[in-house]
Amino acid sequence: MSQQADCLFCKIVRGEVPAEIVREGERTVAFRDINPQAPTHVLVIPRDHHENVAEAAAQDSGLVDAVVRDAHEVAVQEGIADSGYRLVFNTGSGAGQTVFHLHGHVLGGRGLEWPPG
Ligand code: IMP
Repeated sequence: MSQQADCLFCKIVRGEVPAEIVREGERTVAFRDINPQAPTHVLVIPRDHHENVAEAAAQDSGLVDAVVRDAHEVAVQEGIADSGYRLVFNTGSGAGQTVFHLHGHVLGGRGLEWPPG
């Protein structure tokens, strides 16, 4: 497993930083966002460290599949799959990425506007 010592989300995977974990997959961990932007706001991250979704896709495309599949399982588990949910991968600081360990935001439980801010 490829991890980084100082990465916040690697620390959550290792149990060194507490998180409200809602699902543990073979290759992913899902936990509630500490600053939720919707009634349901869960982050789905790979256990392995990748800076963003593009880097993961280039290095291990099956991993991105697992993140997307498990994000849908979270949506089902949270009861938002039928009403609709948004899966967001902020990629790069210009797009608002602040934690540089790939994470998909699963957002739902309210009406979501388009375009996003
Ligand atoms: P980004 O802006 O796409 O990189 O998303 C990072 C997300 O991580 C933000 O929505 C933060 O609220 C969330 N976050 C930061 N630290 C923690 C934490 O310790 N636990 C859970 N979520 C966190």
